[in-house]
Amino acid sequence: MKFSNSYIHLGDAFYQRVLPTSVPKPELLFWNDKLAENLQINESLQNNAVLKAQFFSGNQLPAGAESIALAYCGHQFGHLSPQLGDGRAHLIGEVLDQKNHRFDIQLKGSGPTAFSRQGDGRCALGPAIREYIMSEAMYFLAVPTSRCLAVVTTGEPVSRETLKPGAVVTRVASSHIRVGTFQYFAIRNDIASLTALLDYAINRHYPEINIAPENKAVQFLEVVIAKQIALVVEWMRVGFIHGVMNTDNVAISGETIDFGPCAMIGIYDPHTVYSSIDTKGRYAFGNQPNITLWNMTRLAECLLPLISNDEKAAIAIVEPLLMQFSQQFEHAYFKMLANKLGLTEIAPSDQIFIAELLEIMKNKRLDYTQLFTDLTQSLDDDNLAHKLKDKLGDWYDRWKVYSGDSQENINIAKALMQTNNPIVIPRNHHVEKVLKACEETGNTQAADDFLTVLRSPYNEIANTIHYQDVPMDDDRNYCTFCGT
Ligand code: AMP
Ligand code: MG
Repeated sequence: MKFSNSYIHLGDAFYQRVLPTSVPKPELLFWNDKLAENLQINESLQNNAVLKAQFFSGNQLPAGAESIALAYCGHQFGHLSPQLGDGRAHLIGEVLDQKNHRFDIQLKGSGPTAFSRQGDGRCALGPAIREYIMSEAMYFLAVPTSRCLAVVTTGEPVSRETLKPGAVVTRVASSHIRVGTFQYFAIRNDIASLTALLDYAINRHYPEINIAPENKAVQFLEVVIAKQIALVVEWMRVGFIHGVMNTDNVAISGETIDFGPCAMIGIYDPHTVYSSIDTKGRYAFGNQPNITLWNMTRLAECLLPLISNDEKAAIAIVEPLLMQFSQQFEHAYFKMLANKLGLTEIAPSDQIFIAELLEIMKNKRLDYTQLFTDLTQSLDDDNLAHKLKDKLGDWYDRWKVYSGDSQENINIAKALMQTNNPIVIPRNHHVEKVLKACEETGNTQAADDFLTVLRSPYNEIANTIHYQDVPMDDDRNYCTFCGT
């Protein structure tokens, strides 16, 4: 295990040096073997579960690791919190994977820091396993995401609504720089740190950017916007609702981070919200693009002083990038939906055709994942084709014409649909059932079985069928919590 910590060189303003707080009885519950192998950290640990539990509970730091809690702030539900930061997480270092890409290794639930505010610095086991399962599912769905290396139980209960078993989850991300990290320095008017952060972020994530001083911030903004659009389009492809898209939860790498109250859409309705705290639907499924633009506007504001000393001139430069957002998003979004329907090319009239389907799905309360799976299968299943025609009416016939009349065209459409439409997703009721089983039994069997299926979301395997069912109550009563 070769640790380094390039973030430390940014200086004291960026973090607090703080050690994790030891836990009484660390026990390794989950270990992501494939990820460990990819990060080249398996060998030195030599299947030593005791050592893994020591390292990934924070009881002991691996050689070369240096523990810091990062400073950031953020807009939470539209309101600025000037000081957030890692209140229960420790970045213990970075490792290079087999392709020489740099990844942060971060412990979460590892004890209080200067940024804890009223929090206890701890994490309950349920949310830790949830993050493990959801991030693993997203990774195999081919959505950019952070991942989890380990979950270690601590032997120490944490106090939530009731006492819950405690855990430390190890998160692996290509960095933990957030929109909120830029905001932290921008609102303090600390231009030197802001410049250092921009250079660091460009170097680490977007080395292709021309580093000429006058336009690097603009190029950076442009590429971060493009990455966020790509990310949210991918979320919407698989039916993911992040649930808490505060600016401190938006990674500038374009990866999904922070799985607190996330959920998957069942019945298609853009207004779907499951998070208990999102009472106004700010982070509803269909509002995710609008919020992304809002978040990118906050990033743009931070970058203004780096673009020009004349604020008006700087605004004139970034404004067109934000004005283009909706058009760029729509283009990517409809292309994604076209691919889900097996259409390789998309004309403006196709957008109307696609929007018509979404309207039917919403009105008839159809399951998002199930419908696209059925459409794919109906290409060579006449029975299913008849059923869909009943459901979708003349739209279905028009789609059949679109998707091609020659067998060759149908084959092309089908292949495209199979790579874009998962046949299984981490449905909310299954996630909850699995979490409950793990908490009750203290073992990982239920999660392991679920993960085996979730690691093959585009190809049916023996047990896929056990996880495809839609929830009995259409998730009417489903509610997620931040898990803090
Ligand atoms: P989140 O909603 O998980 O993105 O967290 C928002 C902020 O609250 C971050 O600064 C977290 O570090 C902090 N936080 C969340 N839970 C805790 C906790 N149990 N103890 C201390 N800080 C926490
Ligand atoms: Mg967060």
